[in-house]
Amino acid sequence: MDIFKLLPKTNCKECKSPSCLAFAMKMAAGRASFEQCPHLSDESRIKLEELMLPPIIQFEIRRGRKTLQMGGEKVIYRHEESFYSPTAVAVEIPTGLFGDELRKKVEKIENLRFERVGQEMSVDFIALEDDGEESFADYAGDVFSKTALPLAVKTERPAIVEKILSWNENAGVLICTTVENIKNNADGFKKPGFIPAAMVETVEEAKNAGAVFKEVGIKNALFAVVSSKHFDALKILYRCRLEALAYKKREFGYPALLWDEPSEMRYYNAAAGIMKHASLVVLSDDSPDRVLPLLTLRQNIFTDPRRPIQVEAKVYEIGQVNEHSPVIITTNFSLTYFSVAQEIEAARTPSYLLIIDTDGTSVLTAWSADRFNPKTILEGIEKSGVFEKVKHREIVIPGYVAMLKEELEEASEYRVRVGPREAAGIPEYLRKLSRTPA
Ligand code: SF4
Repeated sequence: MDIFKLLPKTNCKECKSPSCLAFAMKMAAGRASFEQCPHLSDESRIKLEELMLPPIIQFEIRRGRKTLQMGGEKVIYRHEESFYSPTAVAVEIPTGLFGDELRKKVEKIENLRFERVGQEMSVDFIALEDDGEESFADYAGDVFSKTALPLAVKTERPAIVEKILSWNENAGVLICTTVENIKNNADGFKKPGFIPAAMVETVEEAKNAGAVFKEVGIKNALFAVVSSKHFDALKILYRCRLEALAYKKREFGYPALLWDEPSEMRYYNAAAGIMKHASLVVLSDDSPDRVLPLLTLRQNIFTDPRRPIQVEAKVYEIGQVNEHSPVIITTNFSLTYFSVAQEIEAARTPSYLLIIDTDGTSVLTAWSADRFNPKTILEGIEKSGVFEKVKHREIVIPGYVAMLKEELEEASEYRVRVGPREAAGIPEYLRKLSRTPA
């Protein structure tokens, strides 16, 4: 009804809806945009634009091939639906590095790339904090010229903010600074490629920053929670999300990042921030064994809990297979597929890996939900045509479903071997299998 009240109510049908009320209902369901009504007054247009904004603003930060989505979250708790914009991970580099030393540092961060369950995970930003030196803006420019990643700069000095805002448009720079500096440089922050993050240490300061963004007309912005007190920082992140989503307070409708002081706790704060509710976290670590666990945590938190990550159900050839290669069977849960495939590769025993469609569930879950049973396995075999490629009639099933062996053998012509329970046991199993006469 709030939308309907702002429409002309002439039922002219030019929006291709039978009436203004029907059009309002379509808009409310997200199936129409106010731009489809040509008769709106300017005042109604502005009000509708505001009314239709998502509770937390969503935007992208781009540089080169990197496109990072910020905000747009719809729920406080992941199990209510899903989280949508993965927390960006930034690695802070110290000031005072030059030439080769700086280049190597930047390269090391850019090379923090990992593959897990078929997805590439990497660091998203290089972060830099103002050290108070005269030359800091030049140093930031030097770092920026050496990296293909977006840059996040934290500074309270107005002159540094102005200097960075004078860089070319579409830069891909996030500037974490005071609300005052953002207010005084509002035009600069409206240029594409420069995103402001207002430094806040309390919930009240976040509310004030949100009001300032609106007052000066900055649409894409973040709160930068800079409190070094662990629980305070997490409380602010949580409260901002709560106020925006549960109480619909517009001033809080911006994503929030966490940029605490370098300390022993920074790494753990970042982990907590990924879970609740930071859009970006800043690390001091650039070693793979510290970064990988956080990227893995992020991947787990930001997968849709309603849709397990799954691979296509079909037969995969691992290595140079031939007509004697074993046929190994498992489910289409991504993690299961990649773990098994990796271990087969490590075993250097070319094999056919037959994946059964179990709606992306793991072996035991699929078995207990009756999705991995003799019927589904035999249907999968039939569909895949794998036994047109080999001469033998043997299949290997996961050790966790050893109880299916007898039933499978009774219902088919196949000899069923029981493989290991865990993927880690596959190399040894395959080595023994290759020595076992058929
Ligand atoms: Fe109503 Fe506008 Fe649609 Fe005409 S075009 S029916 S005025 S909403």
